[in-house]
Amino acid sequence: MSGWGRTAPTLATLHRPVDAEEVTAILGHGGARGAIARGLGRSYGDAAQNAGGRVLSLTGLRNVRDFDVARGLITVGAGLSIAELARLTLPFGWFPPVLPGTSQVTVGGAIAADVHGKNHHREGSFCDHLRAFELVTPGGGRRTVTPEGEPDAFGATAGGMGLTGAVVEATIELIAAETDRVRVDTERARDLDDVLDRMERGDEGYRYSVAWIDCLARGRGLGRSVLMRGDHATRDELPRGERDTMPGFATPRVLSAPRGVPSGLLSAPAVRALNEAYFRRAPRLERGRLEPLHTFFNPLDGVRDWNRLYGPRGLLQYQLVVPFGAEDALRTVLERLSGERRPAFLAVLKRFGAGRDLLSFPIPGWTLAVDLPAGHTELAPFLDELDQLVAAADGRVYLAKDSRLRRELLERMYPQLKHWRELRAGLDPEGSLRSDLARRLDLVGGP
Ligand SMILES: Cc1cc2nc3c(=O)[nH]c(=O)nc-3n(C[C@H](O)[C@H](O)[C@H](O)COP(=O)(O)OP(=O)(O)OC[C@H]3O[C@@H](n4cnc5c(N)ncnc54)[C@H](O)[C@@H]3O)c2cc1C
Repeated sequence: MSGWGRTAPTLATLHRPVDAEEVTAILGHGGARGAIARGLGRSYGDAAQNAGGRVLSLTGLRNVRDFDVARGLITVGAGLSIAELARLTLPFGWFPPVLPGTSQVTVGGAIAADVHGKNHHREGSFCDHLRAFELVTPGGGRRTVTPEGEPDAFGATAGGMGLTGAVVEATIELIAAETDRVRVDTERARDLDDVLDRMERGDEGYRYSVAWIDCLARGRGLGRSVLMRGDHATRDELPRGERDTMPGFATPRVLSAPRGVPSGLLSAPAVRALNEAYFRRAPRLERGRLEPLHTFFNPLDGVRDWNRLYGPRGLLQYQLVVPFGAEDALRTVLERLSGERRPAFLAVLKRFGAGRDLLSFPIPGWTLAVDLPAGHTELAPFLDELDQLVAAADGRVYLAKDSRLRRELLERMYPQLKHWRELRAGLDPEGSLRSDLARRLDLVGGP
């Protein structure tokens, strides 16, 4: 098994439980190398794999136990994907509260990474919209966890990367959405200062906001971006003839990336040309364009297995957040990326609002995510240097995307690590929950 980046695959025994009872039985079984839950494998690195141990694929847990259509509250199995959730709820006027850059993630994976979307600045992360979840722990069986009733177990599981137990079911508060379109305002920003300024001044006026940065642009163009912001279109905003159609979360026509793509196909000049084309095609200023949900939220979901375009060595994503006030660190990261001429496609910049605690990634500040081809020997020291810079700015990298952080920096980046470990140990005293990520970063600590 590997993550989305296809780096560092390892062997494990795979279980496919179909209900909570089976999950409880498998987790209760112990085993020297422990066990970890897995969703759709969209974390980039080694979070959902467990060399020599057991992995519980939970995508079979997809039942809908309750849907209160009047209040927008739904209780579903943790293996349901966010795409399935959207398909199910949108015809009733409801939508998932947080949609990450791919809709192919499970509810369990969304909780374990406490995922964020383009609305974090206003609405927080996935776990901010949970009423409750059912957690199976290795020794303790199944428990209902609510933010009020069990704040410690709730907080440690939100962003806890599956290391507090297996979530088997969750109750989610949905947001209202009348149509299957987003009303989008687009503008181009000439450089980093310009885009940060536009986001600072304007983001609060929009539910969703994201900037696509050309991180190969240098000099005066450093940080040039296309800023896209919007909200769900209301029925009245649709063309007259379309107002009465039932909204649906359409999966885009799926193309497949070819297999056997050699590494190195994505050279810096090729990517530079693609970035240039994207930037030039974007309107300088456009207001109120109606876009289908999936093109706004998940443009890459239309290409199946696009990660294969990076060839056999795979890819990694570097995602960092630095607090407001540390914009210089962000600039330096961009300078380093563009200066090195790494073949980096458009990077994604977002503004985070208030964060949660413990291992949850978002803190108030700027987050930047960039995909890079893996397997170049100079990449490791280069990213180590960026880590130092991010840590010195009181920022952090995102564990759901990570495949190479050094453990020495973990506590600096996640100052509440010790407290999280204590809470985690209370839920898994035998230390049965393990993953390659946990071992690589010594996440759970102890002997
Ligand atoms: C193209 C792309 C875009 C992305 N965009 C974003 C984004 O915008 N924002 C964002 O936050 N993330 C983003 N991600 C990352 C992704 O949302 C997270 O990695 C998410 O956790 C993946 O969910 P999954 O179901 O695939 O879980 P997996 O990758 O299979 O597992 C991820 C973690 O969740 C744990 N886990 C899975 N299921 C359970 C369960 N039922 N109970 C307990 N633990 C469980 C695993 O143990 C593991 O630690 C993106 C990923 C890709 C590939």
